Amino acid sequence: MASQEIENLASALARLPGLGPRSARRAVLWLVKHRETALEQVLDALGAVKDKLVECDTCGNVDTQNPCTICADPKRDAKSICVVEDVADLWALDRARLFTGTFHVLGGRLSALDGIRPEDLAIDSLLGRVEQGGVDEVVLAMNATLEGQTTAHYIAERLEDHAVRITQLAHGLPVGGELDYLDEGTLAQALRARRPLG
Ligand SMILES: [Zn+2]
Repeated sequence: MASQEIENLASALARLPGLGPRSARRAVLWLVKHRETALEQVLDALGAVKDKLVECDTCGNVDTQNPCTICADPKRDAKSICVVEDVADLWALDRARLFTGTFHVLGGRLSALDGIRPEDLAIDSLLGRVEQGGVDEVVLAMNATLEGQTTAHYIAERLEDHAVRITQLAHGLPVGGELDYLDEGTLAQALRARRPLG
């Protein structure tokens, strides 16, 4: 029983992950109630990112600057590249705050079923970064799914003739697990105990 504008806001919010129609409605009510303070803040924050979102030319991260905050950070160790399937995985691993190197986002995983081939993923650009030199280690942080592991082995093969150490996240990750659903402690442990790809 609300105006079309309020209904529109509720259905837009209901599309966010983790929010269903009920939670979306509660969020709308909360925003209406706090319109003087929080609504303004949310609008400003959304507006600030809306026009600036850009994909990093180096690693594929999405940020409001290119190169992204991680690639542009001189404190990051460019000798180590952690390869992930999606931006969500990058953010999850970065939240664990254990990995001090840089990242590379593939944009998916190899899948015969979905017709995803190597050329559909950012694999050539990864090789390009390695061939530029200065890279010691490539950490393959694919999800513990069959397709994730197939992707990891394919990349390891492509990197075979390059003078880099290839490691992968330690076992102990739940099989079929998606990285961005794991808690930070588990991720940090998997990174700390990373081992050569076998
Ligand atoms: Zn970047």
